[in-house]
Amino acid sequence: MPGSSAIRYSFIIPIYNEEQVLPLLLPRLEDMLAKLDGPAEVIFVNDGSKDGSEAYLAQQIQIHPNYRLLGFSRNFGHQIAITAGMDVAQGDAIIVLDADLQDPPEVTLQMIDRWKDGYQVVYAKRLTREGETWFKLFTADLFYRFLNKLTRVAIPRDVGDFRLIDRKVLEAFKIMPEQDRFVRGMFAWLGFKQTAVEFHRPARAAGETKYPFFKMIKLALNGVIGFSDVPLRMALWAGMGVSGLALVYGLYVIAMWFTHSSLVNGWSSTIVIISFLVGINMLMTGIMGLYIGRIYNEVKRRPLYVVDQRAGFGAGDSGALDPEATKSGHERAA
Ligand code: UDP
Ligand code: MG
Repeated sequence: MPGSSAIRYSFIIPIYNEEQVLPLLLPRLEDMLAKLDGPAEVIFVNDGSKDGSEAYLAQQIQIHPNYRLLGFSRNFGHQIAITAGMDVAQGDAIIVLDADLQDPPEVTLQMIDRWKDGYQVVYAKRLTREGETWFKLFTADLFYRFLNKLTRVAIPRDVGDFRLIDRKVLEAFKIMPEQDRFVRGMFAWLGFKQTAVEFHRPARAAGETKYPFFKMIKLALNGVIGFSDVPLRMALWAGMGVSGLALVYGLYVIAMWFTHSSLVNGWSSTIVIISFLVGINMLMTGIMGLYIGRIYNEVKRRPLYVVDQRAGFGAGDSGALDPEATKSGHERAA
């Protein structure tokens, strides 16, 4: 690609129905880009927006030669959109940020300073979060405590996907083939020299969240299941616990048998025990189902995403499918 080696900074911005936010984002972005010490590209990944986002971006691409647009054939999700941006990024430092100005573009200047100090991953840590419900804050906090108990990789708390990574880290990330992606966990797993920059997270600039409750649950499940097999091993402990209790109860029944002549009034306890055991059984089957579902998803070896449109990439532009950009991690790694 022409001039590919000249790009120093790549910004990746996932976009899903953000027409209200884009006119607010671009001026802030431009102010920040003007302060950079090297050429930058901005990669917008349109994750199947149904509003005017695509039209707006297509028009902006005409004006800004350093803007690129990668459009998916449908909504593939935030984590996949980030991944697609990483696949095409050409910079030496790659920065991921949300479109809604909750990840203030100015903060990336501090992140770049730390990168120049020699850090390879600089994540942005939220000191405060405005405009989020107490419910979201509470559940998020609970989730990260739980996750860090369950996994051996330390996933930093109060950190989202707003981060800078070095080219070297990007190359390592690109050969991680998993389908169900929890990007922040993957970077924690990768290691490298990491540090944090702290910031105050403002409320969304316009529009509404694209992460409704069920999508948060899905992300959280990906986090737990992708980084821990503790839930699977829970079956062992639960089984032992339940058998232990059953044994104690059995001894009690035998003792009663010796001391009392009649022992028919055990109906309710029988029901309690049976339903308890059935419940444990179902829970464990369900947990196994979650892992098996993931295995199934992996063995299908589908591409992570399908590109419908590329613009601003120079020679590689086309409305057609780009085989390179739709390859799955497995194929890329090969
Ligand atoms: N996003 C996306 N695909 C989705 C959902 C969200 O690309 O399916 C983008 C969205 O446009 C935004 C970022 O991911 O740039 C974060 O989404 P949002 O701000 O709605 O999440 P929240 O901050 O509420 O957790
Ligand atoms: Mg947001």
